[in-house]
Amino acid sequence: MSAAPIHPDEHALREALITTALETNRRGLNQGTSGNVSVRLGDGMLITPSGVPYEALRPEDLVFVDANGHWEGSLRPSSEWHFHRAILQERRELAAVIHVHSVHASVVAIQGRDIPALHYMVAAAGGHSIRCAPYATFGTEALSQHALEALRDRTACLLANHGMIATGANLERALWLAEEVELLAQQYVLSLQIGGPQLLDDAEMERVLAKFRDYGPRERT
Ligand SMILES: [Zn+2]
Repeated sequence: MSAAPIHPDEHALREALITTALETNRRGLNQGTSGNVSVRLGDGMLITPSGVPYEALRPEDLVFVDANGHWEGSLRPSSEWHFHRAILQERRELAAVIHVHSVHASVVAIQGRDIPALHYMVAAAGGHSIRCAPYATFGTEALSQHALEALRDRTACLLANHGMIATGANLERALWLAEEVELLAQQYVLSLQIGGPQLLDDAEMERVLAKFRDYGPRERT
């Protein structure tokens, strides 16, 4: 960031991003410095810095990365800034991206499995399943491309042998979806232990998707 004073709206956005990051810890979705959170700002994004625990974050520590992937300042953006940038550049309807290694989403991703239509809330991510992107090394453009593909017509995906990505039109929405995906993954893991899930069929998932489009999915109040 330049030394210019931060606009009040930007300051509020920086505080909201930190609040969201801390919530991923509080809700058991993130431990240590493995996760990262970004939010659209102008033609670029604000993102959590690399290697700083969320508890220690100050608003000025968040890194502004422009549309071309450039940043200034002493702190580096999270090593996963590539896919945050790729998602926010490609998906103009989205404004926030959360990445975590939450336990159950990671367990399913370790198996390279999609989360199938085991519950109607799978439709909250936009389709009949929550896809698992193929593995690629963290922080690479290859991982960005896999993530973009897995997120096609979706707002969340798993990353094989890694974790998950949840997105939204704002930080609150992305956080809500991250928690929902982790819960669905937990339900999937548990159902596999008692014989496997009975899946909803395509026609029912289409009905649910249509209802979500009309009314919006059930949200935390
Ligand atoms: Zn990660």
